[in-house]
Amino acid sequence: MSFFEIKDLVAGTEDKTILDGFNLSINKGEVHAIMGPNGTGKSTLANIICGNPKYKITKGKIIFKDKDISTLSVDERAHLGLFLGFQNPVEIEGISVITFLKYAVNAKRKSEGKDKIAAPDFLKMIKVRAAALGISDEMLKRPLNVGFSGGEKKRIETLQMAVLEPDFCILDEMDSGLDIDALKVVSDGVNVLAKDKSRAFLLITHYDRLLTLIKPDFVHIMNGGKIVKTGDANLAKELEAKGYQGIING
Ligand code: ADP
Ligand code: MG
Repeated sequence: MSFFEIKDLVAGTEDKTILDGFNLSINKGEVHAIMGPNGTGKSTLANIICGNPKYKITKGKIIFKDKDISTLSVDERAHLGLFLGFQNPVEIEGISVITFLKYAVNAKRKSEGKDKIAAPDFLKMIKVRAAALGISDEMLKRPLNVGFSGGEKKRIETLQMAVLEPDFCILDEMDSGLDIDALKVVSDGVNVLAKDKSRAFLLITHYDRLLTLIKPDFVHIMNGGKIVKTGDANLAKELEAKGYQGIING
């Protein structure tokens, strides 16, 4: 039994099938990457795993920690230890970064039957982890993501992940809109979490560049709503040389 498994999934919107016969199996301690052309269903996959109600499953199962999670709510899945880093993180005008993080930490603790975190402990933890990601105190006090650059949003999202310590992290195009320096900082943050072999990662990306910074154990090529080829990190290099059509048709 895998830590995370998708079996024969057929899913999409109300009137369109996007994932069609999708299979994937991930063990603890593994980093998987999914690459694929635009519009092939990568973000849809991430959304469906996390329970976005916009999408419907018509066939198949999503198993996480020996449980079929496909009928659980977004919150229930998050409390089980799922985390999704969005391609485009949301902006929330009325809530500061630090308040949002505190809320997220306490929601998780509540689901685990724990008391709220003591304010000094929370501040100490945030300070250390934010500094590691180059996030200033000023940024922590600003409204969540409002007016943040692409790189700043990804840093905040990585901080959220570092603070929640999820068991399974799905990162959708975390390299989009990042310059090399920001990408390095965010990748370092992911690598720190990936050292703990009790968790697993699914990285969704277009480019091989991210995978030189976070080394995947498996690379999957997705096309037409399913995985069409699986290999090791070298598959990403082959893709860079041949292009999607070269790999998919070859
Ligand atoms: P990728 O992330 O691989 O670029 P997406 O998962 O975003 O692809 O989209 C896959 C296909 O499904 C696209 O054709 C997209 O327009 C369509 N799609 C995704 N989400 C929705 C939605 N909520 N409503 C209608 N079409 C959607
Ligand atoms: Mg996408």
